[in-house]
Formats: sequence, C-alpha cells, structure tokens
Amino acid sequence: MAVRIQFASLFASLSCSAFLPLLHRRPILSSPSHVRAPLQRLFSQALPQPPHVRVSAQARRFKEVEVASASDMQFEAPLKIIEYPDPVLRARNKRVDTFDENLKKLVEEMFDVMYKTDGIGLSAPQVGINVQLMVFNPVGERGEGKEIVLVNPKVSKYSKKIVVFNEGCLSFPGIYADVQRPASVKIDARNINGEKFSVSLSDLPARVFQHEFDHLQGILFFDRMTDDVLESIRPDLQALEKKYESRTGLPRPEKIENRRRKEVAGFGRS
Ligand SMILES: [Zn+2]
Repeated sequence: MAVRIQFASLFASLSCSAFLPLLHRRPILSSPSHVRAPLQRLFSQALPQPPHVRVSAQARRFKEVEVASASDMQFEAPLKIIEYPDPVLRARNKRVDTFDENLKKLVEEMFDVMYKTDGIGLSAPQVGINVQLMVFNPVGERGEGKEIVLVNPKVSKYSKKIVVFNEGCLSFPGIYADVQRPASVKIDARNINGEKFSVSLSDLPARVFQHEFDHLQGILFFDRMTDDVLESIRPDLQALEKKYESRTGLPRPEKIENRRRKEVAGFGRS
C-alpha cells in the first residue's frame, strides 16, 4: 500500500509521533466528506455477515484454504511488483505452515521491494507469491518505525466507526483515491516464527493492515470505492488494463468498464 495522508484523518486519527516523518514526506490531499454516509449505510448492512456481492462470494469460495507447498514459496530476488489487472492479484492465497529460512528470506525481500517502491505495506500476492503473508511498516523507511510481519492473519473484530483515507497501492502505480474502512481491527495471526498472537490496530496501522488483508482475499482497493470515487480513477484503471495487454499480448482478465454499480466489497470476518 502506498498512502497519501488526507486532512480529515490526519489530525483525527494519528496520535503517535512516529508517523510524523511519513506525513512530511507525502503530499496532503483534501478528501470529500460526502462519501462517508453511503459507506456507513453499506457497513451497517454488512455486519455481521458480508453482503452478497461478487468479491465476497469469491472470498467465501476460498474458505477451505490450502496449505502452501515448497514450490508455492519459491521466489527469485529481486522481487517485482505485480500490477493490476494481472490475475495473480485475484488468485487464491494459500496458508503458510512452514516457518523456515526461506520464509524469512522472502519477508526480507518483500521489505526490500516495499521500501524501494516507497510503500508502507505489501502482500505476498503482489510479488507473485500466492500465500497468506503481509509485511508493513507505517513509517515506510528502513530503520525507522516498526516492521510488522503477519502470517495467516484473520480479523476477529472490526470497529463500527468508519474512516475515510486517501489510499494508494503499489499494484496501481500513481493511482490514489478515497477508501472507507473501519477505524480499528482486532487480528489473530502468526509471526515469522510461527507463534500465534493477537493484536488490536487503529489509525494508520489499521488502515494498512486492512488494505493488505484484502489482497490476501483477492480484493483490490477499488472494489471498496464508492461509485463516484471509482469514476474519478476509471481512466487510470483502463490505462493499466491496456498496459497489461501490450506487455503480455493477452486480453485483460478483468475490465473496470464491466463492473456493475453497487458491486462493493463488504467487511466480513475471515
Ligand atoms: Zn495494495
């Protein structure tokens, strides 16, 4: 995830001075407040069950999560960021149950490419490895902030409070738009050594986590945008689709122009 801080959430949600270097590094955008109400309505309908929409159905189909094999974990350094609409971003992500040196090396390489591309979060499918793994550092600078690695994460609780934030995504270079998400989440996961832990996140870490967690379910950030916001980035998404076709010689596997209105992802428990 790449992020531009927007005013509304800037002073409302950030309480930790550790985030300040990030704020100074990024341009500040204003954010329309009119987009809050529709999502609040959506969200209240969505809990406790996810709404009946295509992306959630896709996530549900993947409920029986397979365990990753050694070949699923193979990678070549340096890692490259997979861009929309590559089908790898929509593929099923397998559960990790081997906590070995290869996993540590993969995590190291993921942080490396994340810092190099100016990101603050990265999921394994974004580097072509379809497993339940994400890394993030809300400060986005090596040696600063806290590096967080989550393996096989699950959300046990979402806050009712919804906040708007101007998000970017390394798989959508140059595209930034408002996305509404719960303000805080409670997570169960394993660390890089396979040890189970639970953590509650709020503010920017909660935002980054939820963006990356969506990647692990094959959900992309534009799936959560309101129609108006999506409309504003539609030409950019189509440009990426065209770029994919030129690069691969293959037809685009999904088209934003085919997306029906109201086809928005919900916040279901994993
Ligand atoms: Zn992303």
